[in-house]
Amino acid sequence: METEEFTDFERPSRRERTAPVREKKRPGFILPTILTAMLVATVFVSITPDFFLGNLTDQFKMIFSAQQGAIVLNDRLTKDVTVGIVAGHMGNDSGAVCQDGTTEADVNLKIATLVQQKLISLGYATDLLKEMDPRLEGYKAALLLSIHNDSCDYVNDQATGFKVAGAISNVDEKLSSRLVACLKTRYQESTNLPWHDSVTNDMTLYHAFDEIDQNTPAAIIETGFLNLDYDILTKDTATVANGVANGVICFLQNENILSTETP
Ligand SMILES: [Zn+2]
Repeated sequence: METEEFTDFERPSRRERTAPVREKKRPGFILPTILTAMLVATVFVSITPDFFLGNLTDQFKMIFSAQQGAIVLNDRLTKDVTVGIVAGHMGNDSGAVCQDGTTEADVNLKIATLVQQKLISLGYATDLLKEMDPRLEGYKAALLLSIHNDSCDYVNDQATGFKVAGAISNVDEKLSSRLVACLKTRYQESTNLPWHDSVTNDMTLYHAFDEIDQNTPAAIIETGFLNLDYDILTKDTATVANGVANGVICFLQNENILSTETP
């Protein structure tokens, strides 16, 4: 799927915005010049983030105003948005159960909580939702992501890796596809887990996709198989959660991704 409209711009880098201009000065001016530069730099650094963020936001609004999906993208460029995270099976059932008593619901909740913490640390409001959370009905947010994991039974040697599916019922299907592409790219980069090409109806027809407001982009991720990926899922959960959070941030901040291919 083409997603060019999301990737045909780049923010000017901080270096470009703040690169100092070098000038030759006579020796007698060196000390006063350095002191003045330090003072100016201090003032500059203290005003820069909001100052440029405001300008950039306006610039992006202008860039996007002529493009499809502009309003949603404009909102997403500010941090004044809410992200919904469903901890799969929470409040409903255990999901997959391993021989040592580890349940999928426990692993999902641990990942979802870490994802939520990272998003909060970046200034995003988040809702941690149960599987059958009443708030899902007509839910409005920058995005909804449900976190699940696959079977704890040994299937075969290929039963490793992750899957992502988006809400095709969305008003703007492109947004959910973009969310899926972000999650796929960033999760793979962060965890090195392989893409497992077996998205099922349980995912594409996920119940919450029909319940939420149809303007809310949504996806479901199975972060791994509890059997062959047991170690990373249960002992390196921070890496798993980081991969999921990076995918969400990629979508929220409209980051460029090398591959625009949608699984
Ligand atoms: Zn599940």
